[in-house]
Amino acid sequence: MALTWTIGDVRVTRVVELEAIGGSRFLLPQATREAVAGIRWLAPHFADAEGRLKMSIHALVVQTPSRRIIVDTCIGNDKQREMPPWSHMQTRFLEDLTAEGFAPESIDNVLCTHLHVDHVGWNTRLVDGVWTPTFPNARYLIGRDEFEYWRGQTDEGQGETMIFEDSVRPVWDAGLVDLVGTDHRICDEVRLTPTLGHTPGHVSVVIESKGERALITGDFIHHPCQMAHPEWAATVDYDPQASTATRRRMFAELAGTPTLVIGTHFAAPTAGHVVWDGDAFRLQV
Ligand SMILES: [Zn+2]
Repeated sequence: MALTWTIGDVRVTRVVELEAIGGSRFLLPQATREAVAGIRWLAPHFADAEGRLKMSIHALVVQTPSRRIIVDTCIGNDKQREMPPWSHMQTRFLEDLTAEGFAPESIDNVLCTHLHVDHVGWNTRLVDGVWTPTFPNARYLIGRDEFEYWRGQTDEGQGETMIFEDSVRPVWDAGLVDLVGTDHRICDEVRLTPTLGHTPGHVSVVIESKGERALITGDFIHHPCQMAHPEWAATVDYDPQASTATRRRMFAELAGTPTLVIGTHFAAPTAGHVVWDGDAFRLQV
């Protein structure tokens, strides 16, 4: 059963592509086993007893009374990637998404919080050797700054350029993309908010309905250990100082409020509330 949350009239469903324990040193080098084991509240949900981090790659489907929005589209199948475990993947993600009641044709909006490898993959899928939009009836919403930044990158067919070419350009060429501002409102209940630093145009997603509120993080935070240590920037943060400032600002704004924080890479239970913990923060689940 997929995890779901209800925010007023809005329902959010988590559809998992990959889960992992350990192996995240490449992402958060300061989160050593010793350091993580010292943050007691991370176990058992977000770390194991040995201090290895638990993480998840999942999509979050946001259902409002008027539309269905899929937030971030994971890694995808068949794609050639630099990280061996993520290259030429074959998962049942699309079948799982459909089994939850979200057939690809039924999606109204695809929202990418940013254009990294694990957030754009299922934008397209391989059909007869051609990268084809997975969600043919959707408008794909991509931040204008984010799009322009990645379109301007040139690394001759390696890494980031390859990701743009197989997972972003095909939906752009199909005329399915709307470039939006970092504070774009999608509908009455759902809007974007800028959380810059991880990438130049990174956004998070605010859901508000009937007096209730939730925030989908995207990657301004990768793991709850960064609430205890907002200065633990990810190696893939474009501007580590800016991402740290964003984490401090967001946690201070969220701490002690009823806003449900739904993490884009948080292992189950994936959502909770931010509270102050000394001069840092903790996720209460
Ligand atoms: Zn990510």
